[in-house]
Amino acid sequence: MLTMNTATILEIKKLLSTSKKVVIVPHKNPDGDAMGSTLGLCLYLKKIGHSATVIAPNDYPEFLKWIPGNKDVIIHEMDTINSEDLISSADVIFTLDFNALHRCGEMRTPIANAKGVKIMIDHHQQPDSYADYVYSDVTMSSTCQMVYHFIEKMEDLNQIDTSIGEALYTGIMTDTASFRFPLTTSTTHKVIAHLIDIGVEKSKIHNAVYDTNSFGRLQLLGCAMSNLRFLENHNTAYITLTNKELDSHGFKKGDTEGLVNYGLSLKRAKLAAIFIEHKQEGIIKISFRSKGSFDVNKFARNHFNGGGHNNASGGRSDLNLKDTITKFTDLLTEYELELNS
Ligand code: 5GP
Ligand code: MN
Repeated sequence: MLTMNTATILEIKKLLSTSKKVVIVPHKNPDGDAMGSTLGLCLYLKKIGHSATVIAPNDYPEFLKWIPGNKDVIIHEMDTINSEDLISSADVIFTLDFNALHRCGEMRTPIANAKGVKIMIDHHQQPDSYADYVYSDVTMSSTCQMVYHFIEKMEDLNQIDTSIGEALYTGIMTDTASFRFPLTTSTTHKVIAHLIDIGVEKSKIHNAVYDTNSFGRLQLLGCAMSNLRFLENHNTAYITLTNKELDSHGFKKGDTEGLVNYGLSLKRAKLAAIFIEHKQEGIIKISFRSKGSFDVNKFARNHFNGGGHNNASGGRSDLNLKDTITKFTDLLTEYELELNS
């Protein structure tokens, strides 16, 4: 395993100096950063002469389906044989926006067995060591920003056109919650400024991602808000959504994205969580968010089979919803000091 220093980038430049078959993979349940970064990188690699394909483990929300290059994305879950042929014959496999192979679900085995050179670009804590080259930086706002810096290291910033720019803008915007999370730096804004200068229309992207709600989604938001609880003694907010509640609001992929942040917007909240019943998989999918020093990456790793960043993480529970909530609220007493400091 090597980090992305000058020597490494020279090796990668050499590797990419002749036309290669490239596969680019986001994590399961891809979000704006996962799709923006994989599509941005894919468009760039195609532009410099490679044959590149994005293969997503499963489907993703409609509000990401306008991103340039979207129509060529292959979904492993729906097109398994074709996907696995591409993976096994790829010269190079980029894995983006995740730090451990199990995060790409059923694609983990074909990728682990693939002979192609593996390159990870990611900003999550504690990356695993499956890749040949690792560009990991937990101080980065988003993987999209890292793809920009990767192209910069390749000395190809002039290759970034409006399409690549739109893809990268999307993930920087979504992972920073529109440029307000702490990892949004002056460099992030310089990257964004460059993208705007080359013609990226920021209002168009905000509109496509945030202003395309269905009526059902807003009704589901209402339901989530009435299920919101605040635990005064632990400065903790949590939301639950049952499978029945999702069904009755015509739930579609992506409808629950961002709901957890409402809990964290409560004045005193230091920790927020959302527990969503996934009947099909038989699990409760959980998202954690925190303000300040409470480390939800550690919390999700230690107790809910997950991980992520210090202030945003996810995990799962195999207990039913009620027992999961009991486990969660019981655990909070262990963290009383931290949550009340
Ligand atoms: P979200 O709550 O939006 O699904 O995820 C928040 C952050 O935690 C994202 O950066 C996501 O990649 C990461 N994350 C979500 N679920 C998991 C998980 O099960 N394992 C790990 N390692 N990271 C996760
Ligand atoms: Mn990300």
